[in-house]
Amino acid sequence: MTLTPTLLPKLIAAISETLASHADEITELDQAIGDGDHLINLQRGIKALTEKQHELTALDWPSAWQKIGMILMSAIGGASGSLYATLFLALSKAAKDQALNVQRFADSFNLAVEAVKHRGKAEAGEKTLLDVYIPVALYLNTAATSSIPLPEILNTVVTIAITGMEATRDMIATKGRASFLEQRSIGHIDAGAKTAQLMISAIVGVLIEELSASV
Ligand code: ADP
Ligand code: MG
Repeated sequence: MTLTPTLLPKLIAAISETLASHADEITELDQAIGDGDHLINLQRGIKALTEKQHELTALDWPSAWQKIGMILMSAIGGASGSLYATLFLALSKAAKDQALNVQRFADSFNLAVEAVKHRGKAEAGEKTLLDVYIPVALYLNTAATSSIPLPEILNTVVTIAITGMEATRDMIATKGRASFLEQRSIGHIDAGAKTAQLMISAIVGVLIEELSASV
């Protein structure tokens, strides 16, 4: 079966719901080592995407990702705005003019995460959202060329995202606002890693539901 951008309203709604139901937790995390606006920043992006969702469903994936990137670029403030815009614009560029399958998506996603690393001048282990995206991208790349069934790959992605998010608790922040706290940033999960994990889990939830409905 093929998953098309007609799925986007469901994906956007699922992301919106998970952010809303973890609102206090996310804000507390960003207040502890950031400036407390991370949730509001993301929600501004989600609202803008919701308003444009019917234009998005008419597109193919690379065009939809490009439009999402541009919408997020203008709607979200803060560090996370330009990083998420970069993620989607790079994903679009990498996937353009190719018939999309799991392996090509994994390749494109890896390139997109590389672009975010470049944009944020950050690597794994710096206590950012990249501590979720990097291990997920690496796993997807390996899994896509294996014989592991897609639902199993997706479930593992959720586990890896949770592990990556939790690992940020013991890291010292060396990028973004939290880096001003140096050693005092230890002991708190990074807000951007938390929302990345929540959004990935929400996306996987929708995908698994679609896959099981189609068999
Ligand atoms: P701001 O820090 O500008 O207020 P947000 O609060 O929306 O922006 O986002 C903060 C999150 O962005 C952090 O929790 C972290 O995960 C991520 N982040 C910040 N700087 C970087 C960077 N240079 N590279 C990767 N991620 C970053
Ligand atoms: Mg902030």
